Amino acid sequence: MSILVLNSGSSTLKFALFDELAEEELVRGTLDWYSQSEGVTMAYGFQKISKTESRLDISNNRDAVEWILHVLAEINLGKSIRAVGHRVVHGGTKFCQPTLINEKVIQSLGEISELAPLHNPPALTTIGAVKTILPEAAHVAVFDTAFFSTLPRSAYLYPVPYEWYEQYGIRRFGFHGISHEYCSTRAAELLDRQNDDSLKLVICHLGNGCSATAVLGGSPLATTMGFTPLEGLMMGTRSGSIDPGILIYLMKQQGFNPEQLDQSLNHQSGLLGVSDVSSDFRQIEQAAQDKNERAQLAIKMFVERIQSTIGSLSVLLGGIDALIFTAGIGEHSPLLRSSVCEKLSFLGLELNEVKNQNAHTDSDLATKQSAGRILLIQTREEQMIARAAQRFIMKSK
Ligand code: AMP
Repeated sequence: MSILVLNSGSSTLKFALFDELAEEELVRGTLDWYSQSEGVTMAYGFQKISKTESRLDISNNRDAVEWILHVLAEINLGKSIRAVGHRVVHGGTKFCQPTLINEKVIQSLGEISELAPLHNPPALTTIGAVKTILPEAAHVAVFDTAFFSTLPRSAYLYPVPYEWYEQYGIRRFGFHGISHEYCSTRAAELLDRQNDDSLKLVICHLGNGCSATAVLGGSPLATTMGFTPLEGLMMGTRSGSIDPGILIYLMKQQGFNPEQLDQSLNHQSGLLGVSDVSSDFRQIEQAAQDKNERAQLAIKMFVERIQSTIGSLSVLLGGIDALIFTAGIGEHSPLLRSSVCEKLSFLGLELNEVKNQNAHTDSDLATKQSAGRILLIQTREEQMIARAAQRFIMKSK
């Protein structure tokens, strides 16, 4: 028996299959149909075998799900799926816990889709498709916003007219919650401080999307992403926080419309916008090494924003016991970690450069004398989702 985890984007569907206990990952893969001219690429790895297929005839999430189940059947893993965990980006204020999906839940998710127009609609299509194909399995939605449902009021309200909150629901939701929650729990384990209400963590999730969270004793105190995943740190193609007056100026004086602003801020900004090289940090690192001035500038801005954020989150916590790096850039770029930590000695954080260069998963990269720890944690969002789904199987037994 197994548990399937699905993470639907607008042009990708990531999947992972776990054993019944949600401990062992049996296979994972990605189906990517963004670049139509190239056909669809699917890459998956099964233990030591990995396989890439391209030019598949897939144009939507429904086809994608069918293809994934077909591939799983080919490698004899498709038949025994007991539960499916779906990553859902936005749970609004309604969904604060993993939820068994029924018709009522689907309807409620549809109602909050406009809060996450890029993410929730494809997840809903996928849920509908998999429920039809696997009607006997338990389908469970796990929300990226859920971890932040306990944010203090002072952290989730914006300093705008209070009616915006009351009438339009304008508030901070926070995103990447599955990752931040996993890292918070894992850090407490690594530090042997589980159930310690005073543990102060700053978690930096640095991937294509980037966010940082201050966590006190396992609960979030503040986070950088807001009403949408556009706020906060500079990201691959997203601007992160900018002066909202810029938008007013561009609309009033330069005739920009909402679609143009949306496109520019979500897809043409961040590392890509500044470097004009790529949104991919590896390529920017390479260009910076080759003396591309704009790539160097993009990295400098990226780093400075992370440093300022770590500073402000540490103040909110009243100190910091550990800084955590996770996600693609956080886990894999020694340059980024080294640059960020360069100015953190005043917080008692000192990076061991040898450990940093030879870092391995879930390890402490701080020097012995460092007052605080610097942890590299491999985020395991899929496993968190599988575990949530597994709890529902246990309940129904
Ligand atoms: P994610 O969204 O977590 O998959 O992270 C994607 C980001 O991680 C992209 O910007 C990648 O360029 C970056 N990344 C992945 N591997 C590396 C690496 N070895 N060095 C630097 N950046 C990396």
